Amino acid sequence: METTRKRILSFLQDNPATIRDVSKKFHISEREALYHLEHLASGRNARYGLEILPARCRNCGFVFRKRRKVRCPSRCPVCRSEQIVRPEYRIR
Ligand SMILES: [Zn+2]
Repeated sequence: METTRKRILSFLQDNPATIRDVSKKFHISEREALYHLEHLASGRNARYGLEILPARCRNCGFVFRKRRKVRCPSRCPVCRSEQIVRPEYRIR
């Protein structure tokens, strides 16, 4: 496994973080941070136990509990608001 991904893995063991947090911490783009997290969440990496603390709608409070995708949803299915509190990720 490449080094940045290993470092992200151990970073998330200590504290839940958003894509933005990971991007800032490791000086990489959010797109790259998302890419690493998607890899860590993929089937063959399930052993790492990446957990997604679900996104939430800031407007109506809807929680995206069933969502399996790593990427932040763009809008709320209930009220259509785009004010979404970003999901956080951690290693169990
Ligand atoms: Zn909503």
